[in-house]
Amino acid sequence: MQLAPYAAQQSSSRGRRFAEPTPQYRTDYQRDRDRIVHSSAFRRLEYKTQVFVNHEGDMFRTRLTHSIEVAQLSRSIARILELNEDLSETIALAHDLGHTPFGHAGQDALNACMKDYGGFEHNLQSLRTVDKLELRYADFPGLNLTFESREGILKHCSHKNARQLGDVGERFLKKQQAGLEAQIVNLADEIAYNNHDVDDGLRSGLITIEQLLDVDLFKEQFDIVQQQYPELNDRRQVHEIIRRMINRQVVDLIDTTKANLIQAQPDSIDSVRNHSVPLAHFSDAMKQMNQQLKRFLRTQMYAHYRVHRMSSKATHIIQQLFNAFLNDPQLLNPKYQQIVTQKEQHHAELGKARAVADYIAGMTDRYAIAEYAKIFNPTELT
Ligand code: MG
Repeated sequence: MQLAPYAAQQSSSRGRRFAEPTPQYRTDYQRDRDRIVHSSAFRRLEYKTQVFVNHEGDMFRTRLTHSIEVAQLSRSIARILELNEDLSETIALAHDLGHTPFGHAGQDALNACMKDYGGFEHNLQSLRTVDKLELRYADFPGLNLTFESREGILKHCSHKNARQLGDVGERFLKKQQAGLEAQIVNLADEIAYNNHDVDDGLRSGLITIEQLLDVDLFKEQFDIVQQQYPELNDRRQVHEIIRRMINRQVVDLIDTTKANLIQAQPDSIDSVRNHSVPLAHFSDAMKQMNQQLKRFLRTQMYAHYRVHRMSSKATHIIQQLFNAFLNDPQLLNPKYQQIVTQKEQHHAELGKARAVADYIAGMTDRYAIAEYAKIFNPTELT
């Protein structure tokens, strides 16, 4: 596979934090991807959700299927732009590893709990997961991924946190960009969740086709499908619309980015990094349509009373678990008690709170619910 000069190349990689011999039959980026697929945080994505809680039904996206969709879109786009497909896949599969249980409600609740201890941010937690929390290898903590994978996983970062992160934090202080492989994953993530939330929203009955006709991106494809298949009015109609919406966004992203590349002529990944703005983006018209769709999802779906009711329950569970563990670490399972006590010796309260946050962030939705019941439900006797 021919790579463009602006793609991430193994030969110019900034390497791993702990030196390792090059793999025999794989590239370093393939090895990164394989390490993610074999990690325990990756398996737990199956029981973590974005909008719906896992037990609400088997048909909805989970963080695992979402990550696979993002990887599919990223690889297709990377291939067309002659970028490093393996690196894009790696970043896509890892991008949500740091998410708490219960989607954004869980993240907001944990961030509020951690207010006095440096806060909690899921994107930073994804990096922390691959750098520190996965303990599988004898010679190093974490997965020891290449710089490019780590750089791609860390999408955004405050200056305060960036200063503590060393090499991967530098670009936020110097106002540099990530490589194009990371830029396209970021946009593939947006394409994936906007469209699958429409799909899951319709399936769950939280939103209707009639409501969606106010959204230009949807209406445009609805009319095309309606004209081509006037008799179609079931799940197949929805799928025919959504697959066209995805294609429309992907093609727009590729065309716009191609034109940017022709104009900017970056000759290496470093010239991509040093460009004043990201070279991968949608056209202005598509950006506006995307914003309209997001606004619709925010007001009609994420704020729906059924979603809100679950979010409010999720907030309560996270808060209660956090307070219980922080005030009485003996409630933790012994493996974590050990970690918390070790941290306590080093950084006192701060380390203890961070260890509790790591533990809660790693939980799946159902594990958090079960743990809550074990601690607070008097009829739960085990
Ligand atoms: Mg995502």
